[in-house]
Amino acid sequence: MIESSLKNKIEFILVEPSHPGNVGASARAIKNMGFDKLCLVNPKSFPDNEAFFRAKGASNILDNTKVFKTLDEALKDSTLIFGTSARERSIPWPLRDSDNLTDIILKELGKRNSKISILFGREESGLSNEELQKCNYQIKIPSDDSYSSLNLSHAIQIISYELKILFDSSEHIIKQTDVEASTEKEVDFLIKHIDEVMKQIDFYDKENPKQVHTRIKKLIKKINLDKMELGIARGFLSKIEEMLNKKD
Ligand code: SAH
Repeated sequence: MIESSLKNKIEFILVEPSHPGNVGASARAIKNMGFDKLCLVNPKSFPDNEAFFRAKGASNILDNTKVFKTLDEALKDSTLIFGTSARERSIPWPLRDSDNLTDIILKELGKRNSKISILFGREESGLSNEELQKCNYQIKIPSDDSYSSLNLSHAIQIISYELKILFDSSEHIIKQTDVEASTEKEVDFLIKHIDEVMKQIDFYDKENPKQVHTRIKKLIKKINLDKMELGIARGFLSKIEEMLNKKD
């Protein structure tokens, strides 16, 4: 059985929810599954009586809900980020479903400072491409092609249920390790560093620099470097910059 304190390492983030009723129903959904961390990014109305009404016995979750102005602030210390969406994008993000979610979550929970964030999008328009690209992976809940998008709180119910099954399963024992996870902010610095070096060596295709940049971002997010690996990559890039500057 996985220690219940490890459940504190999971947080559910709603990006710009517009219906307070959905926020309340989401609080209830996560509490039903034994989780308690709900965050909101720029909600239309919060706190709101409708949210408390729909949360029923989960009002304590709403009392402790953190509200952020921007997604970057909300994700600052996150070490593994999932973006939920029914839609695949023009540059598809690495997809995870309940079958292949287990290994990566268990591994992350074993890292010292891990914090796993699961993002949910707006009721009307979901997560933007830019928001999804902040994530390591996309989770798509299987649904019918003719009407694939679920109600926000229903999507949260399904994901939190899947996580509860994973946490309750006694087959999976988490090995606590000394590995330190890298945070979203540190990964962001690495991506910017790669970008700078690529510009210096004229790597970018002038016709389509954004495509390459997005694919590099996808590659780095997908491999989910720990802090030491990230440090090696940064050191390597700095050495390249040093050599380039010597040549000038
Ligand atoms: N119309 C929006 C969908 C909004 S549904 C769009 O086209 O993207 C609100 C949120 O619920 C989504 O942003 C996503 O976080 C979640 N969601 C809904 N259906 C989902 C599915 N099939 N798989 C994963 N997440 C889903």
